[in-house]
Amino acid sequence: MYVHIVAGCIACGACESICPNVFTVYDTAEANNENVPGFEAECRDAASACPVSVIKIEE
Ligand code: SF4
Repeated sequence: MYVHIVAGCIACGACESICPNVFTVYDTAEANNENVPGFEAECRDAASACPVSVIKIEE
C-alpha cells in the first residue's frame, strides 16, 4: 500500500487523529509511508474520513 496526499488538504487534523503513526499535519498533511505496514486499515479509515478526499491509497 502507498498513501498519497494530493493538493487540497485543509489541515483539519482528522487523518492524524485516526492514524498518527502515518499522518502528520503541518500546513498540510504528510504521510510517512515507511510506517504504513500494520496500519493499512487505519489509512483506509483516514482516507474515508478526510472531508476533502485528498488521501489517495494505492493498494
Ligand atoms: S483529513 Fe484530509 S483535509 Fe484533514 S488534515 Fe488529513 S489530508 Fe488534510
